[in-house]
Parts: sequence; C-alpha cells; structure tokens
Amino acid sequence: MKSPYRIRGPAKWTWAAATVLLALLWIGSGRLGTWENAADGVECTLADGALFLYRGDPSDPQRALVRCGSNFGLYMLPTWEFELNGWYAACPLWPLPLIAGVVTVNFWRSDAVSRHRSRFNLCSNCTYDRAGLAAEATCPECGSPPV
Ligand SMILES: [Zn+2]
Repeated sequence: MKSPYRIRGPAKWTWAAATVLLALLWIGSGRLGTWENAADGVECTLADGALFLYRGDPSDPQRALVRCGSNFGLYMLPTWEFELNGWYAACPLWPLPLIAGVVTVNFWRSDAVSRHRSRFNLCSNCTYDRAGLAAEATCPECGSPPV
C-alpha cells in the first residue's frame, strides 16, 4: 500500500496546476468573445468567462452582441434566453477553478498536517505515538505505514 504522504505529494501539485490552468481558461476566455461558425445548428464556444451554447438565426442581434464579446465582461451567473427563432445559454466557468482550488487547499492542508505529525514521531493518520517502534514498522493502532 502506498503511503498517504506519497500520494498527497504529487496530488497537491497536480491539483495546484489544474487550478491555475482552469483559472487561466476562465480569465482568458473573457478575451475570446467570437462565434466563428455561421452555419445553423447548435454552436458551442468559450467566451466572456462562460461556455456558450447557441442555436438560432445567424442574423440574430443577440448573437451579434455575443460576437462582440466586450459588452458583457465575465459572466458570473448562468444566463439563457429562448425565443421563437432560437435560444442561447451561457454556463459560467468560474466554479471550475473554485472547486479545483478547494480540492488543492485540502490536499496541501492534509500534507502539512501529515508532515507536522511525523516531525513529532506521531502516526500521520491517527497521531499514535510511534516512540519505541522500528522506523519501518506500521502503526499498531491503525496499520498505516510510516511516512
Ligand atoms: Zn496510526
């Protein structure tokens, strides 16, 4: 069994990188603001901090506004509009970096707690005092391997 510490180490960096990438995607999408496909049917694009789905008339003024992009800033709330000739919906992207950030903070906190416990020769899982145990011995209380 892999030590929880050995799993948390790479995971905390992976989640930190994912958080940064998702935040860049969210902020960077504010500068896109384009609809490139003029064909009918559902279109999908990232713009103004949101994922847009659109179906309707290419000459729709709402579509033209979205095409400009700069009138909206970053979408913070889901937005949708249904009309006779089509619909559009915008799903904000900000929850993605937020969720990834929460997971990242949890991994970093957990890793810091584990390091703190092992520094005082305590089991990193249950805080059992490992004094007198061999360095490679598993915890007699919970069975966790040493860190
Ligand atoms: Zn233990």
